[in-house]
Amino acid sequence: MSELAARPLGGLKGVGPRGAERLAKLGLHTVEDLLFHLPFRYEDRTRIQPIGRLRPEQHVVIEGEVLAADVMFGRRRSLLCKLSDGTGMVALRFYHFTAAQKHNLTRGARLRVYGEVRAGGTGLEFYHPEYELAVGDELPPLEKSLTPVYPTTEGVHQKTLRNLMRQALTLLERYPPRDLLPPSMLDSARLPTLREALLKLHAPQPDDPVDMLLTGSHPAVQRLVMEEMVAHQLGMLSRRAGQKAHSAPVFTDDRLVHRLRDSLPFTLTGAQRRVIDEIAADLAIPSPMLRLVQGDVGSGKTLVAAAAALMAIRAGYQVALMAPTELLAEQHLHNFRHWLTPLDIEVAWLAGSLTPKQRRDTQARLAEGQVPMVVGTHALFQEAVGFQRLGLTIIDEQHRFGVHQRLALREKGREGNQVPHQLVLTATPIPRTLAMSLYGDLDTSVIDELPPGREPIDTLALPAGRRPDVIARVHAAAMKGTQAYWVCTLIEESDALQAQAAEATWADLKEALPDLNVELVHGRMKAKDKAERMARFSRGEAQLLVATTVIEVGVDVPNATLMVMENAERLGLSQLHQLRGRVGRGGGKSYCVLLYQTPLSHTAKKRLAVMRETGDGFRIAEEDLRLRGPGEWLGTRQTGDLAFRIADLMRDEALMSPAREVADTLLTEHPDTAEALVKRWLKGAEGYADV
Ligand code: ADP
Ligand code: MG
Repeated sequence: MSELAARPLGGLKGVGPRGAERLAKLGLHTVEDLLFHLPFRYEDRTRIQPIGRLRPEQHVVIEGEVLAADVMFGRRRSLLCKLSDGTGMVALRFYHFTAAQKHNLTRGARLRVYGEVRAGGTGLEFYHPEYELAVGDELPPLEKSLTPVYPTTEGVHQKTLRNLMRQALTLLERYPPRDLLPPSMLDSARLPTLREALLKLHAPQPDDPVDMLLTGSHPAVQRLVMEEMVAHQLGMLSRRAGQKAHSAPVFTDDRLVHRLRDSLPFTLTGAQRRVIDEIAADLAIPSPMLRLVQGDVGSGKTLVAAAAALMAIRAGYQVALMAPTELLAEQHLHNFRHWLTPLDIEVAWLAGSLTPKQRRDTQARLAEGQVPMVVGTHALFQEAVGFQRLGLTIIDEQHRFGVHQRLALREKGREGNQVPHQLVLTATPIPRTLAMSLYGDLDTSVIDELPPGREPIDTLALPAGRRPDVIARVHAAAMKGTQAYWVCTLIEESDALQAQAAEATWADLKEALPDLNVELVHGRMKAKDKAERMARFSRGEAQLLVATTVIEVGVDVPNATLMVMENAERLGLSQLHQLRGRVGRGGGKSYCVLLYQTPLSHTAKKRLAVMRETGDGFRIAEEDLRLRGPGEWLGTRQTGDLAFRIADLMRDEALMSPAREVADTLLTEHPDTAEALVKRWLKGAEGYADV
């Protein structure tokens, strides 16, 4: 399609520089882009509807003669034009009209009108319809195909887009695009050629199944989706190939890993041992590891990461571990120091809360290679942060970071063609389809086994009115020597309001439970303060911890067996699951109480039901994805990585695996075709270029 891709829209009739700019806002730069801009609706302008049979909300074409046209002075001035075709009468109403319009729409004029029928002040009316005046008594011939309605933007009219599309379709006929999917595949899946698919979508026949075109189940749509998904997978594969083409340091000495294992008060699970072996195999070859470790909350990912770190450190390299929030990073810091200090390995800390001096000192020591390991937050990306010999990057909760951030951290360890190994941890199990489109460039390890002693958590949902019963439960738990969390949530994103709500709840609960020690943490506290309070709770000096969702990740107190979440209806499934995962960590039978405000919305009801039914993180993630859709599920950072033009991950899930297979075949058997596909669909996707 290079001919079409090479033609900027500015070259079409009716597009000036301003117009081109506006089209660019829709992501439309070339004729090819325009052809991939699909209608979201069609109108049938191929036949004329008798006025006598109009019904409200229909989009129709009518023809008739103007009986009268008058300027009405109601609440708003309008031009009201009565039209009749012998079967009935209807009104056209214009609130904005020009002198020319008033002049043309006079008694006896013949018109063809397109628009939506509404129930109006004088019976059925059209508001600001499109219309054409007969010249002499002649109206132009009716459309032969359905009329597409396109997504538009400010300053780009539907009419303009249609007019441009007509020119684009002519060019499509003149320069038929190259078909980049293998013919065998198109045949077996009964998919049309690209040219046929585009013609069908932009100009369907009146008897075509419009519903299928709009819902994406029509072969013409599937043809485009398939091509786009293949291109996307190719992008992944080539990004991976590009990364793998670098070299990486080789780590084979696992003596420190053994010393760590020997120092633990427990033995590793089979799944942990398997994943550590998979990582060790990656590190033993001079090509960079790209591995994603998925494991449910509490499955012991941190330890696996520590094993990887020790391999790198033993070989004299530095390791950087980055987490998305300060609290999660602190928890990692705590764990790593706990495990590594006895091995005489220093772990540095780099986060936004450091004083400038502390930060400068840490940065200097990292740059000079005096500290082998650093744990931190986004602060690690900053330009001023450099390493002497970075050999491994570990990123926790990857889906909160984008691919670019992952690569930015890697670049800090580049030396010529050599780059660090990369390990990515995620506690949010990612449904398969998403994993394929998001992490298709990574190898995956799954920790599919929890440490022994983890029992399923009994979960119940109660209306807020049952609060006194729940408080009694907290008391009973404390009397048994176990501990509880009480999580306050607010719909507002503001830290300040969240903190206020937590403080109020804390005061209430202290009063209701005078014989317990009740501790409070929230995001507005100083890191040191927070850490001290958490530590007091960890040591069992408080029986109840009131918290905002800052404890969502990373907090680990096995003796806590009760989790109460207030306003649970406001939280998403993965957040509920993460929070619930703070209990059931070995301290005995655990419970989770979801307090909710009535009335519950339909989705909130569903979420609470899912939470009661299952503790399986994968099932919860699938449900969550279904309820929210991929864009929201991933948050804004990642949506760029998933910006499909036509495909819809949820809708077109079934095509993902076939697309991957086609991509694999193309890459080995027809690399030139593969390249053309990537060019066609992924231009501007910087991620693919900067490998
Ligand atoms: P994740 O990050 O996967 O949610 P963590 O690595 O934080 O889980 O581990 C959760 C808790 O389980 C920690 O206290 C950790 O020390 C402990 N743990 C890890 N592996 C094991 C194991 N094999 N047996 C018992 N406890 C373990
Ligand atoms: Mg963890």
